[in-house]
Amino acid sequence: MNLSDQLLETRKKVVEKGIEMLSTNLTVGTWGNISCRVPGEEYIAITPTGMSYDTLVPEDIVVLDLRGNIINGTRKPSIELPLHLAIYNAREDVQAIVHTHSAYATAMAVARREIPGAVEDLVQIVGGNVRVNEYALPGTEQLGINTVKAMEGRSAVLLANHGMLGAGRDLEEAFRVCQVVEKSAQVTLLAQLMGGVVEIPQDDIVGMRNFYLQGYGQDKEKSL
Ligand SMILES: [Zn+2]
Repeated sequence: MNLSDQLLETRKKVVEKGIEMLSTNLTVGTWGNISCRVPGEEYIAITPTGMSYDTLVPEDIVVLDLRGNIINGTRKPSIELPLHLAIYNAREDVQAIVHTHSAYATAMAVARREIPGAVEDLVQIVGGNVRVNEYALPGTEQLGINTVKAMEGRSAVLLANHGMLGAGRDLEEAFRVCQVVEKSAQVTLLAQLMGGVVEIPQDDIVGMRNFYLQGYGQDKEKSL
């Protein structure tokens, strides 16, 4: 595939995930943002700022290099570009990022309480508990630094007083991470109402995480 076909393909996938994010109530209006690496290139494709997901066309998706220089596109990239770039530059394992303001995850982020490693699907897909980063204003480089730190060894993180972020080996996985984190936040809150959460032993978390990582690509559904 040549570069322009590759860019079009990547942009289409970002647009599709934006529509899916709206339809699954993971976010409202123009909040949240989505990005992924362009395969075989040192580029990322990211949603533009302030545009509704249901009106986006592939040309609206902005392509940039890993230092934030625009390679292709006429729109202004998401305000959270520095956050996405910080993660791509720190984490070679991350191919795609979905950032949402979904209700239950944001509730945990506002309370600044981590989601414990107490749900099996969560620890498989995220790698353990979901930590809360140290607060920083949206759009700042500091937010990127704080987020990379809190996300170490995990594929998701809660952004203090803001929302959550999920990463994956492709957009599909990053999106699924957000869905599982949102559900786990809800489950955690309910379990706390019933007296508390019982965490899964660390050895079992590691075992389930490895099983998930090895199973991916052959039988995705079964590994979940
Ligand atoms: Zn946000």
